[in-house]
Amino acid sequence: MLKEIVKPNIRELKAYSAVEIPCKVKLDANEAPYGLDAAMSDVETNRYPDPEAKALRQHLARMLDVGAENIILGNGSDEIIYHLITAIGGPVMYPVPTFVMYGIIAQTFGVVTVPVPLSDDLDLDAGAMLEAVQKYEPKLIFLSSPNNPTGNSFNLETIIELLRVSRGVVVVDEAYQPYSTRPSIIPMMSQYKNLYVMRTLSKVGLAALRVGFLIGEEEGIEELNKVRLPYNVNTASQRTALMALTDGRVIEQNITTVIEERQRLFEGLTRINGVTAYPSDANFILIKTDNAKTLHARLLQNGILIKDMTSVLYGCLRITVGRPEENTELLKALEEVRGQNNER
Ligand SMILES: *Cc1c(COP(=O)(O)O)cnc(C)c1O
Repeated sequence: MLKEIVKPNIRELKAYSAVEIPCKVKLDANEAPYGLDAAMSDVETNRYPDPEAKALRQHLARMLDVGAENIILGNGSDEIIYHLITAIGGPVMYPVPTFVMYGIIAQTFGVVTVPVPLSDDLDLDAGAMLEAVQKYEPKLIFLSSPNNPTGNSFNLETIIELLRVSRGVVVVDEAYQPYSTRPSIIPMMSQYKNLYVMRTLSKVGLAALRVGFLIGEEEGIEELNKVRLPYNVNTASQRTALMALTDGRVIEQNITTVIEERQRLFEGLTRINGVTAYPSDANFILIKTDNAKTLHARLLQNGILIKDMTSVLYGCLRITVGRPEENTELLKALEEVRGQNNER
């Protein structure tokens, strides 16, 4: 009976599918290849978490050279997107294809979404974006840079232009910044009060903890804190994240390995017949090929799971950079599959 009274925009929504497909080599979700060794268990389970996660926020603030009052934590950056749309509403604008949660969460609130297609070179279409800002006056613009699933960073001049013309908030989602060749946009926050930067620990080896955060002007962060539910980041996550950041080794190892392996994987991919690999600033590589769906299925027969992107980008698949041995296995399997195709 709930289904009959649920809001129409929710009934029409397709739930985010995080289906688990059994596989030996998992390269579909942009996770980092290495995690923490030791589990930590010195949590006082009878007590509520620190509602403000003071120690973790202070550590992040020092790391990023901002104030602790400029940071709000989320149960993953997904929750930050939720906070932003709860507090601000729409229209919500974003380029497409991009990270799907901007659109999904906007739809759960029933606010107007303004998806603007990327240009042919997969960068922001400056003209179309600026035109859409004039026409729809979005209160929120989400820019994933580096972008998921394309892997490239967006043109900085276009981002700045959007910051200038937009009367709403521009959120630059730097989920993949640790893997990027370009500097973070964080230093520009002093010039543009409508610039907010989102980060996550999920792509550098701590996805299980669900820790994401947003950096921005103090008075804006204060407003967002009003919609954040108390204790949204649990004690085990706060402690483990702080421990991992203080030690730094696992995160560093992921970043170093992924950047080296991304280069090797990219070169390997470009050598495979009929496969085009796009340059990446992230921990994954987008490829384009004919028979993408068949290739995806054949890899899975070999126990290797990558991400099918054909519904949003014609002929495209997204491959997360894994451990060296996993990447080697992927390249080997790809060569075999493509070799067989070419014989026919
Ligand atoms: C994976 C991803 C996130 C989600 O991060 P969580 O902190 O795990 O919720 C956010 N933005 C982009 C662009 C991503 O690819």
